[in-house]
Amino acid sequence: MAAMTGIRNIMILTGAGISAESGIDTFRDAGGLWEQHRVEDVATPEAFARDPELVLRFYDMRRAAIQTKAPNAAHHALARLDEHWPGDLLIVTQNVDDLHERAGASRVLHMHGQHLNAWCTACDERSRWTDTLLDRPPCPACGEAALRPDVVWFGEMPYRMDEIYAALREADLFVSIGTSGAVYPAAGLVREARELGARTLELNLERSQGSLWFEETRLGPATELVPAWVDEVMKK
Ligand SMILES: [Zn+2]
Repeated sequence: MAAMTGIRNIMILTGAGISAESGIDTFRDAGGLWEQHRVEDVATPEAFARDPELVLRFYDMRRAAIQTKAPNAAHHALARLDEHWPGDLLIVTQNVDDLHERAGASRVLHMHGQHLNAWCTACDERSRWTDTLLDRPPCPACGEAALRPDVVWFGEMPYRMDEIYAALREADLFVSIGTSGAVYPAAGLVREARELGARTLELNLERSQGSLWFEETRLGPATELVPAWVDEVMKK
């Protein structure tokens, strides 16, 4: 790819690979098991209908775990870019942790929801939630005991796709960081970006299923690649 010149608007898509170096694992580690659970037993609406206690206990554990983790050099580099970049910038994350925000980034969109939110299925309000849900606490807005994790499960629609596509239409550069290229619709964004004329760059630990769609792929740990790329794009 040519140097990072002539770029004004940037969309960054982040995935599990950026949080992995902070010690947050995903169901893709360990052969499709996630803390000994199959995805279809804990991360689908059917699982929640069938065994809500199992699902709530699982998410309570995840919610507690992420609060013990800290953002890494890749999160901090993106926060620095967010703070100083004069053009449009949107960090679209598939991650449900809050490490981008804790690093200081503010232009962040969680397309798969957030661990630290609870969603009330009675009144549709979302509340910041750092505690447990297994004990069925009342919704802060309406008082009903109808809270669930505000996380997009397999088989549910990702959030705010209209906003994501609107930002993509304005983007000159689309950068994917630490994503497998396996989960749609996130995986389709690079193709969309190219059709819209944006430059495309992938930063990943290894070649992904989506690598062939990128003009350039850089391989390595996010904590090395992301700070180096941020320096490059801010120097232009
Ligand atoms: Zn409510």
